[in-house]
Amino acid sequence: MTNMLPIMRPWLPTFAEMESSFREIVESGLITNGKYVEQFERRVADYLGVKHCVAVSSGTLGLVLALRALDLQGEVILPSFTFTATAHAVVWNGLVPILVDIEPDTFNINVDQVEKLITSNTSAIIAVHMFGNPADVDRLAELAQKRNLRLIYDAAHALGSWYRGRTLGEYGDVQVYSLSPTKIVTTGEGGLIVTNNDILANRCRLARNQGVDTEYDCHLFGLNSRMSEFHGILGVKSMDLIDVAVAKKMALVEYYRPRLEEFPGVRLQKLADSTVRSTYKDFNIVIDADKFGMGRNALASVLGSRGIATKKYYSPPIHLQNVYRNLKEKFADTLPITEYLSANTLTLPLFPQMTYPEVESVCQAIAEAREQQVR
Ligand SMILES: *Cc1c(COP(=O)(O)O)cnc(C)c1O
Repeated sequence: MTNMLPIMRPWLPTFAEMESSFREIVESGLITNGKYVEQFERRVADYLGVKHCVAVSSGTLGLVLALRALDLQGEVILPSFTFTATAHAVVWNGLVPILVDIEPDTFNINVDQVEKLITSNTSAIIAVHMFGNPADVDRLAELAQKRNLRLIYDAAHALGSWYRGRTLGEYGDVQVYSLSPTKIVTTGEGGLIVTNNDILANRCRLARNQGVDTEYDCHLFGLNSRMSEFHGILGVKSMDLIDVAVAKKMALVEYYRPRLEEFPGVRLQKLADSTVRSTYKDFNIVIDADKFGMGRNALASVLGSRGIATKKYYSPPIHLQNVYRNLKEKFADTLPITEYLSANTLTLPLFPQMTYPEVESVCQAIAEAREQQVR
């Protein structure tokens, strides 16, 4: 269908705002790793209130290189309810993924269960701020310190999220943000490694350039994951949009909420507490098929036939993906919440430019789908 309401649409600066900068770099010939990338890094570091930001060519490579720069060994604990990249980064570093279940309300990792999974081989925890909802940062910090583990945040969804009225920049040894098109700030492709640790930041800067220094001596197994100036320009200009974009999404969610919560068997992701601002990288409802009268998949196909796009984040979860089939048996029966949410969440359209009538039309379509089913 051509007039499909999408689940998201990137919000970009206008071409006019960027035109002179694009012209400048093309004419100067300095098209990668130059002043716009540096400006972008400074902007993000200031926004997050941290010392260092290292821009890279994707969030995935940001995770791969951050883990590499930390020089981890053995096992790393991470959720199964996440995007493939979180687990891939562990495997690409030759580390062993240990999967932990999540909380049913917040969709974030269950810290009690993380603690139970720690062994003498564990070197790190990767927590994801799921869909922009901050993980339990205080308890994770305490646990990581007590057990002497590195704490990494896959913050792909969380550039623009707040906890206690502030960004998430201060948490963990390192955070990695993604700038791919479904994320709140996008440069087309890109990622950001963020840390207050001087030594780690230096290692990440080396790592994004193969690990080589200015004398061409190589210090660690890096990769080429530099960011081009074209991406840097998009990044700098997009930082002007971030707070408005998140505020618009939060307002749309508050419009959605009472309408969706009217339906029996429908609930929304619960934010950690009332001080949270979530980017709602994805806006999900959880459907209890018995109470609602129809299941997630059936609702998705009715909405699709009515021109409303949906997604099923994250289905399948890591341990049910083909490439990770060795994990399926290893973690059988230990991830019930992950499996439940993977089977019952539906991602609805939400993006800053979305209109209130569009929200209304989604709610209306859900009501009608249900009436047809129940009748
Ligand atoms: C998008 C995403 C990534 C990877 O980011 P890319 O920039 O697409 O490589 C990593 N983790 C999560 C949870 C993501 O959603």
